[in-house]
Amino acid sequence: DHLSNKIAAGEVVERPASVVKELVENSIDAHSTRIEIELEEGGLSLIRIIDNGDGIEAGDCELAFSRHATSKIKEEQDLFQIRTMGFRGEALPSIASVSHMEMSTGTGNGPGTSLALVKGQVQSLSSTNARKGTDITVRHLFYNTPARLKHMKTINTELGNISDVINRLAMGHPEISFRLRHNGRDMLNTNGSGNVLNVIAAVYGMNVAKNMVPISAKSLDYEINGYIAKPEITRASRNYVSLFMNGRYIKNYNVQRAVQQAYHTLLPIGRHPVVALSITMDPSIIDVNVHPSKLEARLSKEPELTGLIEEEVRNVLRSLRL
Ligand code: ADP
Ligand code: MG
Repeated sequence: DHLSNKIAAGEVVERPASVVKELVENSIDAHSTRIEIELEEGGLSLIRIIDNGDGIEAGDCELAFSRHATSKIKEEQDLFQIRTMGFRGEALPSIASVSHMEMSTGTGNGPGTSLALVKGQVQSLSSTNARKGTDITVRHLFYNTPARLKHMKTINTELGNISDVINRLAMGHPEISFRLRHNGRDMLNTNGSGNVLNVIAAVYGMNVAKNMVPISAKSLDYEINGYIAKPEITRASRNYVSLFMNGRYIKNYNVQRAVQQAYHTLLPIGRHPVVALSITMDPSIIDVNVHPSKLEARLSKEPELTGLIEEEVRNVLRSLRL
């Protein structure tokens, strides 16, 4: 019902950036190869996501906006085998409950569907001539939750958070072309070539990309692939160490520290490296169901991973000095 959706919205959609994250993750789950994000006023007045993914069948459109109706978790067992970005089936209903939403979607087979919702209630539903893919617009975010609206920072802060989210999703998915625009101005364009170095160049600039070296390693349970910057490229924040676990951006203190440790003697105090690592593993050893934002993960064999990363990063850095 409306109330439980609004409560869930408190956990799932804290800020414009969390709305953008949930919507873009849905586009990724739908096998999109191109995702466009348009914003106005830091996402507070408008968020629009256009993808070329699978689309939603006419008969499933209303269902997509009812809580847990679409949960991909069918059995308890499934929680340990998560292969998609979304799995709780609460993002769309939560976002709809605190905004005005419009969706137009098509599967490429037969006519598409257009849908408008206010406070999570379907106002109109009609058949349209949609192409394959989904186009979702969120307006007036948090208009009916004044307390939350009051907690919004400046447009630039909200925009910065959204930009971080998209940068990370783009680095985690170099095979997808992303375009981010704010008030009609381009903020990010990636080409979907599949080469993460192209995304790093788009996000951090050419100078950083030119100074990154590849890294790859494998242990029994983990495989790592990515790029690490030469020690002369440093940043004042830890945020430039990006970890992707099975394609998902993850914060994990111990893994982060393993990277930092490997650079330890090479960097001035207070400076941090630029690193982007894609880590793959069987889904059964990673648990992302720790927090609704799915930003954290528990690993059942963490020391194996931290050991592998620290050793390999050290090896690559050592080889640079030879
Ligand atoms: P979850 O992602 O956890 O399944 P959501 O509330 O985020 O739940 O989305 C509900 C459902 O709506 C998804 O499972 C998916 O079937 C459908 N859906 C949402 N966005 C899209 C999209 N961009 N393309 C195709 N299907 C989508
Ligand atoms: Mg989702």
